[in-house]
Amino acid sequence: MTYVIVWIIMEDIKKGQGVRNTLLIVDSSEFRRKLFSSICEPTYQLLLSGTVDEAVSILQDTGRNVDALLVECALFPEMKGRSGDGILIALSERGEDEFDALSQGAQDFIVLPSDPRLVRLKIERAIRQGSENRLLRLSEHDHLTGVYTREVFFPYAEKLVKANPGLDYDALELNIDHFRMFRDLYGPEVSDNMLRILASLVKTRFSEMGGIVGGGKPDSFLVLVPHQENWPQLLRELLEPLRQMRDLPQVQVRSGIYAPIGHDVAVATAFERANFACDRARENFNKPYCFFDSELHKAQMEEMRLVGDTPRAIEERQFVIRYQPKFRISDRALVGAEALVRWNHPRLGFLTPDRFIPLFERNGLISALDNFIWNCVASQIRSWKESLGSCVPISTNISRVDVGMPDLVGTIHSIVEHYGLEPRDLNLEVTESAYTREPNRLVQLVSQLRSLGYRIEMDDFGSGFSSLNMLALLPIDVLKLDMKFLQLETERPAIIRDVLHIANDMRVPVIAEGVENEAQAKMLEELGCQYAQGFHYGRPMTADQFFALMSGKKQSASIA
Ligand code: C2E
Ligand code: MG
Ligand code: MG
Repeated sequence: MTYVIVWIIMEDIKKGQGVRNTLLIVDSSEFRRKLFSSICEPTYQLLLSGTVDEAVSILQDTGRNVDALLVECALFPEMKGRSGDGILIALSERGEDEFDALSQGAQDFIVLPSDPRLVRLKIERAIRQGSENRLLRLSEHDHLTGVYTREVFFPYAEKLVKANPGLDYDALELNIDHFRMFRDLYGPEVSDNMLRILASLVKTRFSEMGGIVGGGKPDSFLVLVPHQENWPQLLRELLEPLRQMRDLPQVQVRSGIYAPIGHDVAVATAFERANFACDRARENFNKPYCFFDSELHKAQMEEMRLVGDTPRAIEERQFVIRYQPKFRISDRALVGAEALVRWNHPRLGFLTPDRFIPLFERNGLISALDNFIWNCVASQIRSWKESLGSCVPISTNISRVDVGMPDLVGTIHSIVEHYGLEPRDLNLEVTESAYTREPNRLVQLVSQLRSLGYRIEMDDFGSGFSSLNMLALLPIDVLKLDMKFLQLETERPAIIRDVLHIANDMRVPVIAEGVENEAQAKMLEELGCQYAQGFHYGRPMTADQFFALMSGKKQSASIA
């Protein structure tokens, strides 16, 4: 609609400024061309041509400056095929040509001779109406990929399903993995190009099958298509041309399929299910597609129930915190602890974060939970400081979603001030994947926090797609090496050595996560890793247990 309004305003501005619309007359009769000139000038600016070829070359010269074409009926079919989506009005001396002209796509029909006022009125109306239609059509499609926008995709999909009650349909979501990262790495031109190519493959394939394609988010496409039997093969064939393009950096495309859509299921729900399945496919690297089945349906219901339970759970303090100690390897000095949340659910028992954190991250509940956790941790530190006189720094996790909070810095700082703490008392663990999502915002945020005195630990380093060069870009105080490194150690020992080497060169202290035995601790120490966290040193424990640990420790140290 916006486009139409803009067009109308532009038309009014044109009129106000005395800018005239341009008409191109395509008529083989010189007499009629002259007749028209006398009717239309000086209201319109006129371009005249006697043949279609001549008209096409005028169009090519003047580009978009022609507002409407007035075309002799005999030339209409040929002109129609060569004028793109220009506005066409048919001309004839025979009133009986009107039906043919309109059915061939003419915006209007003018019979000659006619009252000049009627001719001008028809032209004006056709231009206005034709432009409105054209702009409406444009606003229905994503300007980059040409697929339907999300807003029109759903109503169209519903219409299609309703119009074919005897047909089963499937819902598909295709998603490009790590699209932001891809865009950061290769720039907007390459990533737009990749999107265009993928969109064109998807559109061509599914239009042939009687389907329609819409854009979900910038990195996903939605497809409604008559039911297909062999989706894995269909998807393989669909994406094969992308694999063959040697000039294009490779991407992983994931698919979620809900097939066939149940007869009592609304289209919007069908695509929610395809989306749910697509998220699951993202978790499984070797199988880039996932079907929504009864098991997923159960999982989805369970998730919805958990989401529904959350506000009350926060109110009733069902979320509890465990503290896992961090040690210096050389002398087992306690250097800190990480606060880890658990949900003591009245129906489901003790839930570990993997059951609810990813879910909360998807639907925005995570910030409320983290806010609650930061407050609890700050209050706990305060009480330990009061009892013991001092307390090692306690780290809390900041989700990648929290990075988008309107005033994350202010929120954290006011909590710390509220409990009379120093920024040094509360360390912040920011997961590596936050960088890949919003690098600029994260650098800005981390810099602000550090300037206030907070220490930032980069969590799960190596689990995602960050490179070591990133360390130079991101201001951090401590690197937490993902536990995957230790698991990889036997296969590729060089990796861990290289990472530690570079971190040492950059003078960033490293904490290894997930250290489970003495051999690992020894190996890490030899390679230059000074700190460790893991079951070998202590499992996540209650506040009381951690208090006892802190009280019993002869010395505690700080991370250099
Ligand atoms: P994380 O921050 O990387 O936390 C370390 C995870 O590794 C914890 O799992 C911990 O229990 C586990 N772990 C520690 N040592 C070992 C070991 O030796 N072996 C093995 N196999 N595992 C070990 P947990 O508590 O299940 O937490 C999982 C993730 O959930 C955390 O990973 C963190 O990303 C997230 N998380 C936990 N609490 C919070 C929170 O309050 N807010 C947010 N946003 N995320 C949280
Ligand atoms: Mg952590
Ligand atoms: Mg971690």
